Amino acid sequence: MVQTLRVDDIEIELDEVIEHIRKSGARIVGLCLPEGLKRKAGDIASHIEQNTGCTVIVSGEPCYGACDIDAALLDEVDVLVHVGHSRLLPVDYRVNSLRSKQHMERVLYVEARSTLDVLPAVRKAAALLKGRKVGVITTVQHVHTLNDVCALLRSLGFSPLVAGGDDRVCHEGQVLGCNFSAARCDCEELLFVGGGEFHPMGAALATGMRVVVADPYLNEARVVDTRAIVKQRYAAIWRAMDKQRFGVVMCSKMGQRRPHAALRAVALLREAGRDATLIMMDDITIEKLEQLGFECYVVCACPRVAIDEYATFPMPVLTPPELEMVLGRRRMDDLALDEILEG
Ligand code: SF4
Repeated sequence: MVQTLRVDDIEIELDEVIEHIRKSGARIVGLCLPEGLKRKAGDIASHIEQNTGCTVIVSGEPCYGACDIDAALLDEVDVLVHVGHSRLLPVDYRVNSLRSKQHMERVLYVEARSTLDVLPAVRKAAALLKGRKVGVITTVQHVHTLNDVCALLRSLGFSPLVAGGDDRVCHEGQVLGCNFSAARCDCEELLFVGGGEFHPMGAALATGMRVVVADPYLNEARVVDTRAIVKQRYAAIWRAMDKQRFGVVMCSKMGQRRPHAALRAVALLREAGRDATLIMMDDITIEKLEQLGFECYVVCACPRVAIDEYATFPMPVLTPPELEMVLGRRRMDDLALDEILEG
């Protein structure tokens, strides 16, 4: 019987899932898993069915983050179990609270925890820190390590600070690829604990601070260098300068809907004498954008899309702050990371 699911370094507690489903009286349960855990879908579905008597339907759609709720599946089930991410309220939760609440009350987020020991990498990163007051940030799978990280930093003479973010993030010190509110704290520099490039890069761009990475996957430490990504973004901005026909893309994923940002982008474009068309899609792919045939796109969805997929887009694809630069609404030396912030 699976109670704690382990996949590589990731652990997921399934007991709370069973308890929640039993209490809810659900008969049909949906199950959404991120790509790295999808191959365990059969094990988890069997475990839930055996322990609750419910019928489980697994989402076969991609799941990129907490924002990415399978809305079609949610319509079919009593409870939707969303594994691997922390709770995230839809962007329109307050704007359209009744609809959003009815949906979100039926979503159970089950976080995943990494079992990796982060302290050896933190010890290496400490050697690269220049300031004493250090803001500590991480992603959800390592948030449980932050007490130990701070204790280690204090023992090495630093003053670590773990700040709370806005309503979009659940845990102190947690950052998302679209939200670095927890990184904006009273510190001299930031220490990011975790793997990958985007989150530490985003923290550096969002705050303008020096960011040191303690990467437990590679057991190494490094200082973030934003020059390549800044060059990439200016290249996209320059390519968009003379474009006339813009597609403004809204996303239908519940946690990425940004109608106000999209409507504002359309208004700014039209005021500037450019053609603007609003587009709604779920996954934003090169094939869909090419098929629509606009000269340039502004993506008012996950801020990572324009950046992560830059090399594959044949046309310029901008974020809303970058559009402001193209239209002369923002200074050219004021490149800002697009974020989805709350409150
Ligand atoms: S909007 Fe993008 S960065 Fe934010 S949670 Fe969703 S996938 Fe992650």
